[in-house]
Amino acid sequence: MNDGIQEDLKAARETCWINEQMYPFSEEKERLLLKREDIEDASKRLARFAPLIAKLFPETAKDHGMIESPLREIAAAKEELGKKCGELPKGRLLLKCDSHLAIAGSVKARGGIYEVLKHTEELALAYGILKEGDSYEKLLEYRDFFAEYKVQVGSTGNLGMSIGIMSAALGYQAIVHMSADAKEWKKKLLRARGVTVKEYADDYGRAVIEGRKLSDADPKSYFVDDEHSKDLFLGYAVAGERLKKQMEEQQITVDETHPLFVYLPCGVGGAPGGITFGLKQIWGDAVHCFFVEPVQAPCMTAALASDKGSGICVQDLGLTGKTEADGLAVGRASQLVYEMMRHVLDGAFTVEDKKLPGYMRLLNDTEQICIEPSSCAAFEGYTAMLHSPESTARYDEIMKKAEGATHILWATGGSLMPEEIRLELLGKA
Ligand SMILES: *Cc1c(COP(=O)(O)O)cnc(C)c1O
Repeated sequence: MNDGIQEDLKAARETCWINEQMYPFSEEKERLLLKREDIEDASKRLARFAPLIAKLFPETAKDHGMIESPLREIAAAKEELGKKCGELPKGRLLLKCDSHLAIAGSVKARGGIYEVLKHTEELALAYGILKEGDSYEKLLEYRDFFAEYKVQVGSTGNLGMSIGIMSAALGYQAIVHMSADAKEWKKKLLRARGVTVKEYADDYGRAVIEGRKLSDADPKSYFVDDEHSKDLFLGYAVAGERLKKQMEEQQITVDETHPLFVYLPCGVGGAPGGITFGLKQIWGDAVHCFFVEPVQAPCMTAALASDKGSGICVQDLGLTGKTEADGLAVGRASQLVYEMMRHVLDGAFTVEDKKLPGYMRLLNDTEQICIEPSSCAAFEGYTAMLHSPESTARYDEIMKKAEGATHILWATGGSLMPEEIRLELLGKA
């Protein structure tokens, strides 16, 4: 890792890492472990389950059981950001509202729900409950069967909500192992949905280890492994084709002269990594993706900048891993995601916790959209782009000239926040 980056990370200073080892995606994709066909397979599986989802969660009926979020231009927010942050990159600014995905209210509704469905399909096929060509609505009659099985997961909050809510709805015994960082309201909401919540005084890593141990000891239990799961990753990656459709509907071009920049909050890496992989499959080198992490939990930035992958954790850098951005409070990155992103991700930014409420208020006041603090990390990539020497050196040309560029802040969570928490965070309680 170069000295500058290492010093910034260690000092918990905001920084920017630019990938010096980007390869053309058309070449790199041949070397990657997962392929476009894997995403297509995931997409088809989601389509098979859509009628069942529409029945289980009536709020998805209008989209026929497809769980997808709006893509909204946020011109008023952009104007306000310009006043506060100085020069911004040229081009339009949009918000991808995964904060408002149905069922789980966060980006985890993509990967988490997909993995529960995939496991359910495997179980149902193995026991002859489903045969090829059957309508999956049939599974509604098998709650007693699924009640004999457990689904478990370690989570800082939102993954637990997505896995827990979906598993419980299908009939499983759902158990979520939560870290000390997890917000009280997330635990309460899960318990209200019939999910068992186990709490650990330690961090997220400990919750995962304990959860996995308990699950492995039980042959009727399935453990969702956030650090290694290809299924979670592929569930997230389906976002690529979905965004392509929305961009076409809104008549937004993406090509070499109309580059797309995407800013994604990052924890263990699965959600932003999967989405990046999905977007790259659609737009290749015309799309530039950046992760954003808290200064105390920059696990993926450290993994990539040091080239050590999951062999380095934030504690190795003298950091605490603690952050108000609970969805991003992860000390060690996923090795799978590191390998998938090594030559694909454009770069990463870190952000101080204290900036997040300001971004949250700005979006709320200008666009009447409320997202949780973790989500707000996305803003930092966009606003820091032209103010960090590393990114400026590489992107100045495109950023200042490309009137035809589009920038997307990926809002990753927030719609399930209780009203009193929302008001408190907005400073309006
Ligand atoms: C989980 C989460 C992320 C990041 O996802 P990872 O897969 O952990 O990288 C970002 N924002 C929110 C709100 C999340 O809950």
